[in-house]
Amino acid sequence: MAQENAANSKNKVAIVTGGSRGLGRNTAVSLAKHGVDTIITYHSNRAEADTAVSEIQALGRKSVALQLDTGKSATFDAFAVEVKHALNDTWDRDTFDYLVNNAGISAPGSITDMKEEDFDRLYNIHFKGVFFLTQKLLPSIKDGGRIVNISSGLARFALPGYAVYGSLKGAIEVMTRYMAKELGPRGIAVNVVAPGAIETDFGGGSVRDNPQANKFVASITAMGRAGLPDDIGPMIAVLLSDENRWMTAQRLEVSGGMFL
Ligand code: NAP
Repeated sequence: MAQENAANSKNKVAIVTGGSRGLGRNTAVSLAKHGVDTIITYHSNRAEADTAVSEIQALGRKSVALQLDTGKSATFDAFAVEVKHALNDTWDRDTFDYLVNNAGISAPGSITDMKEEDFDRLYNIHFKGVFFLTQKLLPSIKDGGRIVNISSGLARFALPGYAVYGSLKGAIEVMTRYMAKELGPRGIAVNVVAPGAIETDFGGGSVRDNPQANKFVASITAMGRAGLPDDIGPMIAVLLSDENRWMTAQRLEVSGGMFL
């Protein structure tokens, strides 16, 4: 209890899954600029995670990188213990404030051609993993904390090849409302951010590196260009600010106006 009271006066701590690259990293760095420390997770690229931690530390904030495969729910109990240790060792506390369920992969496939193994991989990472990771971490989320789930514009509009991915992101949006309902009594707000197409490594980096794909995205976007990581991370940091405490169960599309 003494530890918890002390935690109130300390810096906030967020867990950002997939915080080593792309939108997760941009979110962790943006949170650091807002005075929030982070536990970031990576899947296989430890070197990138280390550079993300250094970038955050250079901003004067604390950060720890932990390995996690969000597609393997059997590992989540052990991960929750690792989180406890990191919180104790680095922050001298038992709880954290914000969970950003961001980690994800692209595995496109038409309804005709989708392979069952890719379907299962998408399902495990984008739906089952988000549900059970949140469940396992819930005891460590401080009352009054927040959860942000990451969806996609593809949950609202349809592009060929994204039936499974888009449907699972749609499921995350529904799950967000249920989380908001069940966690509201603990003062935990839960919202879902749906980015449009953003220039990251995602999907082989095609939005960033394929001029045709980039031009197509720009052509169907009201703001006239593809999104950048800097269009997303700072928005999530603002969403998680103290000033924004009464919004819950909301879907926020951050796409520069794709397919309006
Ligand atoms: P990204 O640049 O490819 O980064 C993916 C991150 O997730 C990396 O940190 C990666 O770690 C981690 N990761 C990959 N597989 C994982 C697994 N099985 N378990 C745990 N972590 C894993 O992707 P991004 O563009 O930042 O995408 C982040 C989120 O935004 C995803 O949920 C995605 O669906 C969503 N989104 C992206 C876009 C877009 O256009 N970029 C649009 C809408 C929504 P390693 O480096 O170690 O593999």
